[in-house]
Parts: sequence; structure tokens; C-alpha cells
Amino acid sequence: MFGARTLLVERARTGGDCLWTGCVPSKTLLSAAEHATTARALTGQPPEFAAVRQRIFAAINTIEPVDSPAALKDAGVEVLKGTLTFRAPGVAEVDGRTIRFRQALIATGRTPVATGIPGLDAASVVTSDTIWEPGSLPVRLAIVGGGPIACELGQAFARLGSQVTMIVRSRILPKKTLTPPTWSGRAWKPTVSASWRTPP
Ligand SMILES: Cc1cc2nc3c(=O)[nH]c(=O)nc-3n(C[C@H](O)[C@H](O)[C@H](O)COP(=O)(O)OP(=O)(O)OC[C@H]3O[C@@H](n4cnc5c(N)ncnc54)[C@H](O)[C@@H]3O)c2cc1C
Repeated sequence: MFGARTLLVERARTGGDCLWTGCVPSKTLLSAAEHATTARALTGQPPEFAAVRQRIFAAINTIEPVDSPAALKDAGVEVLKGTLTFRAPGVAEVDGRTIRFRQALIATGRTPVATGIPGLDAASVVTSDTIWEPGSLPVRLAIVGGGPIACELGQAFARLGSQVTMIVRSRILPKKTLTPPTWSGRAWKPTVSASWRTPP
């Protein structure tokens, strides 16, 4: 747009977390869970998790072209698939190919961090990245953490019928300034049928 020759290097899929494992699937899940609550109130029928999953993948498929290499090319961005390694000031390498640049922007995101939890390696756990992989609705789900992603996943799975327990070290939404009367276990619990535990 401003005339710079732009190269985007991506080792996996364009769209990143937002499209594949973040905003798009989670907002579709929240919407599906809300509809499930209404439908259950009207019909008494539990939601079909397979249909919810289909809805999530339909949303991803709908949005994927917008984030695709073809769309980026139309916007004037050259896309190169591979893993970038910096070699020297102004020099990088993508799978053996040398790239020279004047300015580089690093936007490599991050992955769920679960360090410092004793016994984690031995446990069979899913993360906010892998919970979208094929599977059935968990009957019981323990969520470690009380941030926005934990809360929205907890709320959605509780509405879909899972028994959700949130395990929270400090408090729910620790980075938000919320007064206890507005956001408390008593206020939230009846709405989503979830519970959480904090250490004594
Ligand atoms: C469940 C969930 C719900 C979310 N909901 C929202 C929401 O509602 N609203 C919101 O704003 N945010 C939300 N987020 C956060 C949002 O998804 C992230 O903030 C966003 O995806 C970060 O974008 P990014 O481009 O910085 O990184 P990413 O999306 O992680 O993309 C980084 C990319 O860099 C690539 N890469 C890494 N290293 C290299 C390398 N050496 N060479 C080449 N490529 C490399 C990776 O393959 C990856 O595709 C949510 C996240 C989760 C997990």
C-alpha cells in the first residue's frame, strides 16, 4: 500500500492462530454454544457436538481465502513458504534461499505455555491449540487458567453440556479490573453451570 516491496515468510499456514486455532474457532464455538442453550430451553434436546464442530470448520473455510497466499499476492505481498533464520544484519535464509532485507518485522506469535506444572509431561492434556482436533464433547473438563481464553472456552463447553471446573491460581480474569460483586463465583456459576477452584 505504501510501496514497499514486501515478502512474507510463513512456515505453516497463513492465517495463523487467529484463523486456525484462535479467534475464528473460539468465536464460532461461543456462538454455537449460545444457540445450543436456547435450543435446549425450547426443545429439551442436548446439542449435537458433531454439528458444532462442522460449524467451526465451515467458519474457518469461509474466512480462509481472505488470509490466503493468493489474497496476499493480490495485495502486493510476495509469500514464501518455509522457516526463516537470521544470518547477519540484513541477511536471512529460508530453507537454503538467501533473503536480503532492509527492515524485518517479526510476528511469529506464541504457543500455549504450560511450564512449571509438575507432572504435565505424564498427563494427557489438550491446549487451546489442540482442543479443536477431532474428538467428542468432554463429559468433564478441567481448565487450568482464568484468563479470557480459559473463560470463553469454559463458558462454551459448559453451555454445550460438559461439566467444567476452572482451576485458577489467583482470580478469574486477573488482568481486568473488576469489582468482586460484579464478577464473582456466585454471579457467574448459575449462568454457565461451571465451577472453579482456587488454592486455599
Ligand atoms: C482460543 C483463542 C481465542 C482467541 N480469541 C481472540 C479474539 O477473539 N480476538 C483477538 O484479538 N485475539 C484472539 N486470540 C489471540 C490471537 O489468535 C493471537 O493474538 C493472534 O493470532 C496472534 O497473531 P500473530 O500474527 O502475532 O501470531 P500467530 O497467529 O501465532 O502467527 C505466527 C505465525 O508465524 C509462523 N512462524 C513462527 N516462526 C516462524 C519462522 N521462523 N519462520 C516462518 N514462520 C514462522 C507460525 O507458523 C505462525 O503461522 C485468541 C487466541 C486463542 C488461542
